[in-house]
Amino acid sequence: MSKKAILGHVFHAPVKGEFEHLVNACIEFDELGKISQVVTPDQHDYQSIVQKHQEQNTLTTLSDSQYLFPGLVDLHTHAPQWPQSGKGLDLPLFDWLNQYTFPLESKYKDADFRERFYPELVDTLIAHGTTTAMYFATIDNAASEYLAKVCKQKGQRALIGKVSMDEKSMCPDYYVEKSTEIALSDAEAFIQNIIAIDDKNGLVHPVVTPRFVPTCSTELLAGLGKLVQHYQCHVQTHASESDWARDFSHEKYQKTDVEIYHETQLLTRRTVLAHSIFLSESDKHTIKEVGAGIAHCPLSNMYFADAAFPLREAIDQDLHVGLGSDLSGGPIPSIFHACLDAVSHSRVREAGTNTHLMQNRGEPNTRVSFVEAFWMATHGGGLTLDLPIGVFQPGYLFDAIVVDTNAKHSQVRVYSDLDSPRDILEKIIVHTTEPAISSVWVNGNKVK
Ligand SMILES: [Zn+2]
Repeated sequence: MSKKAILGHVFHAPVKGEFEHLVNACIEFDELGKISQVVTPDQHDYQSIVQKHQEQNTLTTLSDSQYLFPGLVDLHTHAPQWPQSGKGLDLPLFDWLNQYTFPLESKYKDADFRERFYPELVDTLIAHGTTTAMYFATIDNAASEYLAKVCKQKGQRALIGKVSMDEKSMCPDYYVEKSTEIALSDAEAFIQNIIAIDDKNGLVHPVVTPRFVPTCSTELLAGLGKLVQHYQCHVQTHASESDWARDFSHEKYQKTDVEIYHETQLLTRRTVLAHSIFLSESDKHTIKEVGAGIAHCPLSNMYFADAAFPLREAIDQDLHVGLGSDLSGGPIPSIFHACLDAVSHSRVREAGTNTHLMQNRGEPNTRVSFVEAFWMATHGGGLTLDLPIGVFQPGYLFDAIVVDTNAKHSQVRVYSDLDSPRDILEKIIVHTTEPAISSVWVNGNKVK
């Protein structure tokens, strides 16, 4: 099997809270995209490996202005909401959902409509360096399966969920499942069809996707839990996103969202809970015990969460945690931007904002670092999804991006006499925009 290799400056975060900067590292991967070795100039076989790939014309060599990163992982994004990105974010969540989101999502049952927006969205995320995305689609099976075909065709690693929501009292009459039975048979057909679309490529994965507790009947949650156990597939949902969502579960069930998902077998090693703002100590214990993960969506939280997610604690307690854009509750389709937002959000949390208090406005020692945010955007995301991505090590898949600080319209400025490797990493996180991402690989295939 012929292998390829890439040679250049590398940043990645194999260990939480730390980063590695490898100078002139050579990363070799096979036809299936699996990394076979990572060698640096101090290793005895380095020269022979580089030379072999030069002779076989299988080596890509980066320039001094180019930096290789693991591909970015977006753990929470709503594909159909892309056309409304940037609209109505000064509204409360309930009004925003009913005025903008539900009317828009209901349009995707129309083939012309989805063909207009899904390819553009996937192109946009790839262009911003998102090599893996976990998508909420809509309640429509055909539209959600179309999204999977688009991701596969464009080469993006994607985990896709047809949204399940059957609670008629909580959903608009134009955007709700016809019955719980149909919701469950549609959810199962969707899983089977995505497995068929993927055709053993390992690129697109079905995700069981109850929207959130208020829009789902208990029968639906229990039925979806059975599907998850049968198909061993991923799960995504919203957990405790706001005061309203938390109180709804307490009032209707006298339970937390995590308790409800756990009881219905929806909480597994492959479950991603978006937001999870108000977790009890017992919730966190349960999440850790089953190995479920959390998608932290800092920008969206600033609009809709009513509070700050305790990210510092989640990291320190070794929960699986990564980052989500939450398009379009968060309007920016960039996980580098989500890193910046995570740091900013944690600093505001630490400092507090109430100027009527002379001191003790915030929660001390709760900030997170850029290096931690970078870990979440890459390796942390891969761990949360239980996929071998997000770090350059043998056995992992070669999902990668190149940031070229000298690219046309790049806003990243690196001064080699002033900037340490850590400085360069932080500047790239903060200042990288789409034009600076010069190439993107997924599974060893170049997709940008
Ligand atoms: Zn969401």
